[in-house]
Amino acid sequence: MHVPRKRFGQHFLHDKQVIQRLVNVIAPEPTQHLVEIGPGQGALTLPVLEKTGAMDVIELDRDLIPILTERCQAVGTLTVHQADALAFDFSALVKNDLPLRVIGNLPYNISTPLIFHLLEFAGSIIDMHFMLQKEVVDRLAANCGNSDYGRLSIMVQYHCQVTALFDVPPSAFHPPPKVDSRIVRIVPYQTVPHVAKDYGHFEGLVRQAFSQRRKTLRNCLKRLMTDDAWKKSSIDPKLRPEQLTVADYVKLSNDLIESDNQ
Ligand code: SAM
Repeated sequence: MHVPRKRFGQHFLHDKQVIQRLVNVIAPEPTQHLVEIGPGQGALTLPVLEKTGAMDVIELDRDLIPILTERCQAVGTLTVHQADALAFDFSALVKNDLPLRVIGNLPYNISTPLIFHLLEFAGSIIDMHFMLQKEVVDRLAANCGNSDYGRLSIMVQYHCQVTALFDVPPSAFHPPPKVDSRIVRIVPYQTVPHVAKDYGHFEGLVRQAFSQRRKTLRNCLKRLMTDDAWKKSSIDPKLRPEQLTVADYVKLSNDLIESDNQ
């Protein structure tokens, strides 16, 4: 028997209703390329593999792999990558230009960096369905003006549409986590609606803006924007960082680049 490991964020799903509901919202089809992060003992892997016949999984804990492989053997073709999802090259899985559908009941301790890592592969992914700590889903899906709205919301919403789907109580897992969970659907845009001329600059601007979220933009962005640059901008420097939409941040970054080039 496998003893769940805290350092790998192991909370195994056992509630059959929750698993079925999750599979229903994912709606896997045989023609699709499903990739699961952290398959564990296969709670989600088995019902998905039943539908698709083949899938890739990325699991860090090598002790789980024999259990998983044995359980999936009769169900379909499982390709196991024993690896750290945080360092995994997801684009290497794409075959015949068929983009990926990424799923997972993610280890909560690495979920934010993992989502940032996955954004680098947004062009190779059709959609993602994740079980996350409820508060992380709230931050991902938050709108401008909301107290949960911040760097994570902006960077994810720059690339993707985010929809919170349903909640899962701690009792659905073994061992139960100390937090509530929520399912989220994240769909990368085929064409990003507001394009930053220099993505690195945009990223840096958002990071700087939220480094002191209680201050005004003028204060937070002191190092990046002069009074002159503010005068030329249509954005009010007295606003606070959470009052700007993704489009506003893109515009601010693009305007700054333009004024630097003049
Ligand atoms: N999917 C299973 C389930 O729902 O029962 C397990 C979910 S458990 C919350 C998270 C899984 O991710 C564990 O199997 C754990 O070993 C694995 N894991 C933890 N860190 C990982 C990493 N950096 N890369 C890949 N898998 C990881």
